[in-house]
Amino acid sequence: MPNEGCAHEKSAPREMLEELPQSQAGTGRHKCAVCAYNAGFQDGVAAGRRLASRERRNASEGD
Ligand SMILES: [Zn+2]
Repeated sequence: MPNEGCAHEKSAPREMLEELPQSQAGTGRHKCAVCAYNAGFQDGVAAGRRLASRERRNASEGD
């Protein structure tokens, strides 16, 4: 997966940057989308992954 670097010595997978909500990437709360990804990884991205794994479990319970 190609990584996107930024001027603040951070990097993030380009695929993840494209999934960042505009509210996080564009408000100026963060320096840039790459920094937003790094700042949000603990909560936003992790929450998304928990949700995805929960959905996978629910799907398997339906057998
Ligand atoms: Zn940055």
